[in-house]
Amino acid sequence: MTELLFRDDGYLRSCSARVTHADERGVRLDRTVFYPMGGGQQGDTGVLRLASGRAITIIDTIKGAAADEVDHVPAPGAVLPVPGEELVAEIDWDRRHRLMRMHTCLHLLCSVVPGAVTGGQVADDRGRLDFDVPGSSLDKEVIASRLNALIAEGHPVGPRWITDEELAAQPDLVRTMSVKPPSGTGRVRLMEIAGIDLQPCGGTHVRNTAEIGPVAVTKIENKGRQNRRVILAFAE
Ligand SMILES: [Zn+2]
Repeated sequence: MTELLFRDDGYLRSCSARVTHADERGVRLDRTVFYPMGGGQQGDTGVLRLASGRAITIIDTIKGAAADEVDHVPAPGAVLPVPGEELVAEIDWDRRHRLMRMHTCLHLLCSVVPGAVTGGQVADDRGRLDFDVPGSSLDKEVIASRLNALIAEGHPVGPRWITDEELAAQPDLVRTMSVKPPSGTGRVRLMEIAGIDLQPCGGTHVRNTAEIGPVAVTKIENKGRQNRRVILAFAE
């Protein structure tokens, strides 16, 4: 099991850690700042810096077989560290920050577009959500201007924890049908943008919507009778 430091502080760029396991699938650490691909958000990239000065490039981060297990995927051909070795795990912060900005923006998109969310994906230059809405009721420019207004208003973004029982009693909190909130640990983390969006989410977010910066709706795709895909990109 890996201590997931990004869960409490998405702004941590590096941490010291000890290797617990390493094979071609990935390097496992006792703690990490690397976010593993999940909930539609891409896994982090970065480096593992060994005491010897050697750096191992990490090209992706994925979930391991067990809960809270993280595999740091090394570049092909990398010489693996050995269990017990101490190192510094450092993410590609510029890329992660773009992922956090786009991910947070998708929460705003949830509040702007009515209808259930059936899927989504966050990359560092674009993001998308699929909505279960009929017809051609969605307008690119209207959505973009509402999003940019919410961004510019500078709303705080923060976690709120509730118990499994509280979540079960309020199933309407779950906006994203394709991503089941993690449960079974007794409590669930909700991300809250006060008065705008509240939903279970294990991803990484910026602290304030102003940090997202201007965005554009690049496309609204028709993915079936009831399915509209809204695609966003940074405007600058
Ligand atoms: Zn989120």
